[in-house]
Amino acid sequence: MKLFFSTRGDREAVSAPEAVLRGIAPDGGLYVRGDFPQIPLGELRDADFCALSRRILGAFLAGYDAEEISGCVARGYAHKFDAPEIVPLRKVGDMHVVELFHGPTAAFKDVALSILPQLMGCALQKMGAENEIMILTATSGDTGSAALTGFADVPGIRILVFYPDKGISPIQRAQMTTMRGKNLGVCAISGNFDDAQTGVKRIFAEISPDFCRENRVALSSANSINIGRLAPQIVYYFSAYLDMVRAGEIALGEKLNFAVPTGNFGDILAGCYAREMGLPVGKLICASNANNVLTDFLNTGVYDKNRPFLTTISPSMDILVSSNLERLLYLALDGDAQAVRARMEQLKETGNYSMPEAAMQKIRALFAGGCATDAQAMETIGRVFRETGYLMDPHTAVAWKVAEDYRAASGDGAPCAVLSTASPYKFPASVLCALGEEVPADAQAQIDRMEALSGTRIPAALSGVLNRAVRFVDVIAPEDMMAYVLGKAARA
Ligand SMILES: *Cc1c(COP(=O)(O)O)cnc(C)c1O
Repeated sequence: MKLFFSTRGDREAVSAPEAVLRGIAPDGGLYVRGDFPQIPLGELRDADFCALSRRILGAFLAGYDAEEISGCVARGYAHKFDAPEIVPLRKVGDMHVVELFHGPTAAFKDVALSILPQLMGCALQKMGAENEIMILTATSGDTGSAALTGFADVPGIRILVFYPDKGISPIQRAQMTTMRGKNLGVCAISGNFDDAQTGVKRIFAEISPDFCRENRVALSSANSINIGRLAPQIVYYFSAYLDMVRAGEIALGEKLNFAVPTGNFGDILAGCYAREMGLPVGKLICASNANNVLTDFLNTGVYDKNRPFLTTISPSMDILVSSNLERLLYLALDGDAQAVRARMEQLKETGNYSMPEAAMQKIRALFAGGCATDAQAMETIGRVFRETGYLMDPHTAVAWKVAEDYRAASGDGAPCAVLSTASPYKFPASVLCALGEEVPADAQAQIDRMEALSGTRIPAALSGVLNRAVRFVDVIAPEDMMAYVLGKAARA
């Protein structure tokens, strides 16, 4: 059952529960499986989301038994989503929208972060771990609240979330700073998301083992570098596909394209894994905002983060270092961990690296890339709303626009599912502006206005959040993150 090992060459294989507890491999690499179990689509035609989760997670996360997975799925998803399907599919114009935002914080990260804490808690029990787990997470906005919600009051686990002080929406901030739960901490960083993410990675790499031993604490991560976070995301590619089959939109076996608003490359990588597991995926359309480092990578084969970090209206995609790309490199380089390691080291030193042409050809056979500016995303929100009555958030709009561009440029007429990663109510100022409306200064007034205009309801997850008492007010410089963590992790 020890099927997981590091992308960077440490050949020590671990089981899924071990990989989930560790988050990142000791050599700094990410855990991957060497093979992909095959999922027989035909037999799953009538499976609902939870049944699919049991089947797919059971197959992929080797080392958990069926009963454990079943318990995690039940505790993770029961009564937490405001749609009975968990991930509903809607036909909108000539696209299909996969709504990933019906969870407790109204963003796609809920799908995985509802179940990851269960997988971790289960792994802790299974391994008889003596240490307390301390989850460190950097968030560009949505991971934080989804992780805090998922981990709140899970025994044996504490969580500390770092978010960039600038660049997240008032609602996102309020969702985090007002969270209840005894085992939670939240801290702002005077920097951007990459500063926060780099800071967290540094702490993982540099924290002293003696300190951890003395304080009986082990660090782990809830970012999408954790394989237990990635695996649940494979499920909705299957569920969306089967929904399309059941709706008569595609035949079983026909190819389906997916357009994915991409930041850290976790969401879209799960689509690549779904294909490896037998799902008939046509193209994965990797959509970026003005931070288009991935578009350039797909076009040129050179990854280069040496460029200005831009703040956009789709903040969860404002990322210059997409961590999960490392897992794609590993696949494209045929599991040559030394070649992956060399590139990751070069990225750290010079901020760029290049890929061999043969690997890029493999990548381009599955991935198409494109980007959309804020103005294009706004135009798309307004136009799609006027034409279909469907209201999208700015992240989803980037994917929609890039999917349209891809269709026009490639002539690929395959049906396309756009992954919708956030409720439009999370970004009311941008959405109102896109509709040509005046934007009230007060965030609550903004979402009230949107509700009146769109004929949809404010998600329960967001109503009232702006009025809750703020609990967490710390703001620190990126270079002070280590000291902050040591202070929090030390046993009194
Ligand atoms: C996190 C996030 C994304 C990007 O997903 P990745 O897995 O990081 O690529 C896109 N949209 C929203 C709303 C998100 O929260």
